[in-house]
Amino acid sequence: MCPKSLFVGAFTFIALSASAADRLKVLIIDGQNNHKWDITTPVLVNALDSSGAFTTEVSTTPAKGSPAEAWKDWHPDFAQYSAVVSNYNGEPWPEAVRLAFDAYMKNGGGFVSVHAADNSFPEWKEYNQMIGVGGWGKRNEESGPWLYVKDGKLFRDTSKGNGGAHGQQHEFVVEIQNTEHPITRGLPPRWLHAKDELYSRLRGPAENIEILATAKSDLTSENEPNLMVLSYGKGRVFHTTLGHADYSMLDRGFYETFQRGTEWVATGDTKATGDVPVDFPTAEKVSVVLLDGHPKQSAPAPKK
Ligand code: ZN
Repeated sequence: MCPKSLFVGAFTFIALSASAADRLKVLIIDGQNNHKWDITTPVLVNALDSSGAFTTEVSTTPAKGSPAEAWKDWHPDFAQYSAVVSNYNGEPWPEAVRLAFDAYMKNGGGFVSVHAADNSFPEWKEYNQMIGVGGWGKRNEESGPWLYVKDGKLFRDTSKGNGGAHGQQHEFVVEIQNTEHPITRGLPPRWLHAKDELYSRLRGPAENIEILATAKSDLTSENEPNLMVLSYGKGRVFHTTLGHADYSMLDRGFYETFQRGTEWVATGDTKATGDVPVDFPTAEKVSVVLLDGHPKQSAPAPKK
């Protein structure tokens, strides 16, 4: 072996080691949800870890109805993580945890809200500013406008009405509204998403928000937001309304946008996850991600 190839070999080894050390540390929060969080969290973990860009930990809250003492030991150290992902829709977190999470975000943290996480905390003003829009939990016109895209422009509908609706689950076409953003660049402008709920009529303060992708709702005949990005203080938020069930998440389109969204909130770009997968869905064909040994969700799905 000549000295030159020795040098190249050593360099490659160092580069690989550095890349492992540089993986972004992500925390997924679950523990309460009207969805099967115990089945979907492992899919979210796989989606992140399989990209090679992240190391993922899970923090599970006390179960619904637990006494206050049970919450005393639940206080994630948010500052340890480059991004926090919520797969949680349940009781309010203790005030100290809410304040810590708000400070983490204002100081430049990253947050990813997945599907029913945007049903959470209708009374928590700062959380609703982070997610921009949400549904259910008695949200209505007082929560903020209904946000959708009309003629390529973001539209804020301030008329009266409840926030949050969806019809039967079905496959639907996701349409990218901004093809330049790091989360969506290079992706086909229209792709067929696996069976899921198409959230519509989401309402909220909708400040500092951009809609990256939409799908046309049969319920409202409007282009409802599926993928959104927001800024909150110095922090960044990626909000995906997709992901009702494991079979909704086991979709290359969900995987790719979730991976990119998580990297983007952590770093402001998608250098590690930005390659378009060869099996990305087309406008006509869903691309299913197969996980060995993953239990399929067979029970009737919850309503939201
Ligand atoms: Zn759902």
